[in-house]
Amino acid sequence: MARYTGPACRLCRRAGEKLFLKGERCYTNKCSIDRRNYGPGQHGQARRGKASEYALQMREKQKLRRIYGIMEAQFENYFEKAARKTGVTGEMLLQLLERRLDNVVYRLGFALSRAEARQLVRHGHIQVNGRKVNIPSYLVAAGDEVSVKEASRKIPRMVELSQGFRTRNVPKWLELNPETWTGKVLALPRREDIDMPVEEHLIVEFYSR
Ligand code: SF4
Repeated sequence: MARYTGPACRLCRRAGEKLFLKGERCYTNKCSIDRRNYGPGQHGQARRGKASEYALQMREKQKLRRIYGIMEAQFENYFEKAARKTGVTGEMLLQLLERRLDNVVYRLGFALSRAEARQLVRHGHIQVNGRKVNIPSYLVAAGDEVSVKEASRKIPRMVELSQGFRTRNVPKWLELNPETWTGKVLALPRREDIDMPVEEHLIVEFYSR
């Protein structure tokens, strides 16, 4: 299945909540959820009955998939991998998604959305432990150092982003050094470290049907 390339705000309106897919715009009053908080399309404002259990589980799965910008088949692979791990499957799933390199680049503030982070990785601007990695799904490990390539630090967009490094709220499991444009993975994230408005148990129930 091809990657969704339509309007990102439509996905938030479908989910009925902010998924923060567009960077700066999500924090302004231009956000579509603030202006038109109803479903997209011709029947978006139609009253709907109570959602079934299946619909709720499906919605939660779609929401998480869209937040991280992952396609269906890849998301299923993450779930299977999480199910094979020791621990609570829902938490393991979130941990795997958080460990993706594009997500880490976003969390460190090197990009303002995961989509922008993915582009930075793909275009070869990001290094892990001093070596270029251009695979957005690369999973970081505890102790890894993620940095912006020296030559890329002069790109006007990167210069602009670097001005926000000091005010960026970096999660506890990561540490940002704004001077060296480097972030360190202190530990693998636990559920309480992941600020994500998702009920992951619904996703586990969805795949356990
Ligand atoms: Fe979602 Fe951001 Fe669009 Fe708001 S501006 S609807 S949070 S993508």
